[in-house]
Amino acid sequence: IPQEKIRNFSIIAHIDHGKSTLADRLLEITGAVSEREMREQYLDRLDLERERGITIKAQAVRLYYERKKGEVYQLNLIDTPGHVDFSYEVSRALSACEGALLVVDASQGVEAQTLANVYLALENNLEIIPVINKIDLPQADVEKTKREIEEIIGLPAEDALLVSAKQGIGIKEVLEAIVEKIPPPKGERDAPLRALVFDSWYDSYLGVVVLVRIVEGKLYPGQKIRFLSTGKTFEVTKVGVFAPEATTLDALYAGEVGFIAASIKEVRDAKIGDTITEASAQVEALPGFKEIKPVVFAGIFPVDSDDFPELKEAIEKLWLNDPAFSYEVETSAALGFGFRCGFQGLLHMEIVQERLEREFKLNLISTAPSVKYRVRLRNGKELEIENPAEWPDPGTIEEVLEPYIQAEIYTPKEYLGALINLCEEKRGIQKEIKYLTPERIVLIYELPFSEVVMDFYDKLKSLSRGYASLDYQFIGYRPSDLVKMDILINKQPVDALSLIVHREKAYYRGRDLVSKLKEVIPRQLFEVIIQAAIGSKIIARERIAPLRKDVLAKCYGGDVTRKKKLLEKQKEGKKRLKSIGQVEIPQEAFLAVLKI
Ligand code: GDP
Ligand code: MG
Repeated sequence: IPQEKIRNFSIIAHIDHGKSTLADRLLEITGAVSEREMREQYLDRLDLERERGITIKAQAVRLYYERKKGEVYQLNLIDTPGHVDFSYEVSRALSACEGALLVVDASQGVEAQTLANVYLALENNLEIIPVINKIDLPQADVEKTKREIEEIIGLPAEDALLVSAKQGIGIKEVLEAIVEKIPPPKGERDAPLRALVFDSWYDSYLGVVVLVRIVEGKLYPGQKIRFLSTGKTFEVTKVGVFAPEATTLDALYAGEVGFIAASIKEVRDAKIGDTITEASAQVEALPGFKEIKPVVFAGIFPVDSDDFPELKEAIEKLWLNDPAFSYEVETSAALGFGFRCGFQGLLHMEIVQERLEREFKLNLISTAPSVKYRVRLRNGKELEIENPAEWPDPGTIEEVLEPYIQAEIYTPKEYLGALINLCEEKRGIQKEIKYLTPERIVLIYELPFSEVVMDFYDKLKSLSRGYASLDYQFIGYRPSDLVKMDILINKQPVDALSLIVHREKAYYRGRDLVSKLKEVIPRQLFEVIIQAAIGSKIIARERIAPLRKDVLAKCYGGDVTRKKKLLEKQKEGKKRLKSIGQVEIPQEAFLAVLKI
């Protein structure tokens, strides 16, 4: 297919506005997936994505659209995640495209991530096509959504496409708009090869699989290639596309998107953002991607300490597929060997842990997340601390600084009061309240990031019945009165349970946390005392009474199925228990701090 008949595009939107469903309809109407094979959110391939109903990984598929008899277009579609924690995925996907379908839910209107994703698309100079989705819903308000697209985003909306991805309305018009409005890719097919690596993962048969956008030249099996950042060379064994299943091809040409395999064994040899060239050629590297810094940190440990080598290998492989997290070895007195990992947010943290457990069959425990603090010492040194266990002796501390963000909260006006209260409770500083339209407001607050990491997002959603949305940027470090709180179990401090809290909130945080721990730590054969302490001062205490012998005795004898059930339940419960001293502590204990 000639280059002028190729279109590379992404689907971008706020979470749940219908990107993946629209992708389904495009797969269907172009015949890439038959009606029999079709299942909802077809491109969400990870089990985790299907269960949670969210997209985590961007997916590239090739479709062929026969516009008229004999006039066939090649469409390379990249479906992207909507959640703020995965915007690095989105920005990489967009670098492989010339255009984007901007999906806006007609019953919700423009939300925080709608806008954030538009900015990413504009940074990449993409042609943006507004698509108003869910017009089948009785609450759909097309006129209001158009006004919001014009007033909030600043894109003309009179030609916005009106679509119901669910019912398959307006899909043909979407295809026409892609062909009409999105420019074909540029790039010489005869020039020396330059290809951008925008995703890669480990496949047990093929080794490392690399997703590329061919910027110039061509890629074909048998070709000798070089990765510019490492200088390592490989011979290409396979090239192909997902259509939507993996299909091998003779070659990939300038302007196209596809995958290659080249017997790459080392995960680090196919770095996302790298440029692939012919082994012998001297060409300049492509711009690649901005380094991305994690903002939330937590320890990840194997429940069974013998699994540390497996965890190490798994983390290295997963990192290849998701360079937005970081890791380094950590040792904890309580939990043994593990990794201190950095994430883009809490959802990202949960997803990384779950992927490690499922894709690599590991049983893990993670500690409470923390942001990165800066501590100025009396002796003039400055420390960066992302692990409360490393907090210096309070006597040596001159000043503590914590990261602040500027949050933009988009909300219908009826929730304004509740959201202002929430921000104030989280130590927020109000900057601005703007009316975007007569019904919609953006609230701008400066907030300590540590407060946002906790339960801010959940509270925002529940206070606004799901209607408010959030976007934020880091604005720097500010002095703050923070102290380290230790948790002692039977007088032993448990390093993995320490946390950094604001002094004014320490007392009730400590009380809440120990009572929460009392709930989640199972009764043992002996008494367990849980205490919260700041320095040597105990600020809260709870006691778990020992199990009485006759409680255990009850498990024996009696109904067999009940006994079996009980045993299974115990096995289940065992999965994520870690023995600290003699006390068995479940995963929930480490995350209890999030729930207070
Ligand atoms: P994504 O997060 O943007 O990928 O959104 P999904 O495609 O996963 O869709 C989110 C939810 O909205 C799912 O329950 C879909 O069934 C539903 N949905 C998507 N498009 C439509 C539509 O046109 N009409 C209606 N009523 N629901 C839709
Ligand atoms: Mg999706």
